[in-house]
Amino acid sequence: MSSNTLEKLVLPRTLINQLLTHAQRGDENEVCGFIASRGGKPTRTYAIKNVAMQATRRFEMEPAAQIRAIKEMREQGEALFAIYHSHPTSPAAPSQIDIDEFCYPDVLSLIISLNTQGVLEIRAYRMMKNCATEVAIETGSS
Ligand SMILES: [Zn+2]
Repeated sequence: MSSNTLEKLVLPRTLINQLLTHAQRGDENEVCGFIASRGGKPTRTYAIKNVAMQATRRFEMEPAAQIRAIKEMREQGEALFAIYHSHPTSPAAPSQIDIDEFCYPDVLSLIISLNTQGVLEIRAYRMMKNCATEVAIETGSS
């Protein structure tokens, strides 16, 4: 992917830390959740239980928890900004299943990789029908 044409995303450091911590807690299983925004800026994470049968290789967000999170966002004046999940043993790139099953075309997709021990990687993508375009992540100050 060319690096000079990337769309940019600024993520607050605290939010990045929350994502990394959540991914590590999942251990060998993929974790997943929502990132909410306020005024167009990403602000907080909503961890959602992964109920996939093969949780080591894929994720499926618990439906009731998704509905609760969306409801809470509305009550807080937040919007759904991104969906995140982790890859315990593979790079921070979308799998074919991730692309095929992604059903929120208007939000970003973030992937956290625990693949390299000690060095966590986080990447963002805009997923379209059968393709994923990377979005550059910049760390914000707060
Ligand atoms: Zn994935």
